[in-house]
Amino acid sequence: MIERTEASARPAEPAPASALPVALPELDALLPTAKARLARRLVLEGKRPEPADFAARALALSKPEAARLAAWEETALTTRVAERVPSDDGSARLVVKLRDGELIETVAMPVGAVCVSTQVGCAVACRFCASGMNGLKRNLAAAEIVEQVIHARRERRIDRVVYMGMGEPSHNLANVLEAVALLKSSAGIGPARQTFSTVGSAKAFAGLSAARVKPCLALSLHSADDAIRRELLPNAAPEPVAELVAGAARYAALQKKPIVFEWTLLAGVNDRDEDVAQLAALLKGVRGYVNFIRWNPVAGMPFTPTSFERAVELREQVKAHGILATIRASTGRDVDAACGQLRRRSTISTLATPPRTSSTATGSDGK
Ligand code: SF4
Repeated sequence: MIERTEASARPAEPAPASALPVALPELDALLPTAKARLARRLVLEGKRPEPADFAARALALSKPEAARLAAWEETALTTRVAERVPSDDGSARLVVKLRDGELIETVAMPVGAVCVSTQVGCAVACRFCASGMNGLKRNLAAAEIVEQVIHARRERRIDRVVYMGMGEPSHNLANVLEAVALLKSSAGIGPARQTFSTVGSAKAFAGLSAARVKPCLALSLHSADDAIRRELLPNAAPEPVAELVAGAARYAALQKKPIVFEWTLLAGVNDRDEDVAQLAALLKGVRGYVNFIRWNPVAGMPFTPTSFERAVELREQVKAHGILATIRASTGRDVDAACGQLRRRSTISTLATPPRTSSTATGSDGK
């Protein structure tokens, strides 16, 4: 039996107006067109534009232009990295501070992908996830999502984006889709290299189907049994999993890519032989594959991770049904960093720090 943990699901508040405009268009007013375009490209590649970058392309900046660009850079991004935690697996977990002081998490992964947050907190309140423990605070603006990619590119080469960090992207659909389109048009990351990870709903699939730029889809299942799924994802849409899978399949047919079915493994809850049998029946004839994720323990949560050996057995059982399956290690296991844990730890440390030093509590850089 699963014990309930406290979670609040508040309606999303709009992002603050100050965070809405991405400052990149301002460059057009500061620099001639070709130079503005180059500056914009460099920023989106994760570089800090230097006069030498312009000179190397026969676009040397005049002194006033260089001064205007330097002043712009000071305030161009609405977010900053407050804490950077490297992991043994090569990933870098970033606690990103928003202009209003809220914290989110971004993970730059060694495979060239970045996992971005789409909300501060989350209303879905999955029982195994730190991000949903305190409910939803607000949606992220498109700029705040795009800026996470810029921060990750300052860490390493990034050419894939997964909307799988804090928050449920379908609850912030307009801003996420704006970010998807912007990353395609300005950062060279096409929709086939962006994955929208959702707990799913008819409304979400309708919104995605109507979108101009359609990202790949990952559907967080976690169980093929409606009652267990409702226990694990108390605030997810009430549609039966069979309807969600059918809706996802219709979208995937439009988008022409396979669906990833995410399944966080919890010992004794959804890693039994009968869970695989139900999953296989649910996915019969659906184009996609199952991604098992070994749960990263969160203090106070009533679950135990499935062993790696058992995860391998489950993967093989699924494959025996003719369904592709993989096991993904939850990135950053060694740094207390399942989804939402770092931000939570930083928030707690902020609250626990005396007022004199509270402004520095979230940042390892001391700012
Ligand atoms: S797993 Fe995803 S949807 Fe569930 S509470 Fe965490 S962030 Fe929200």
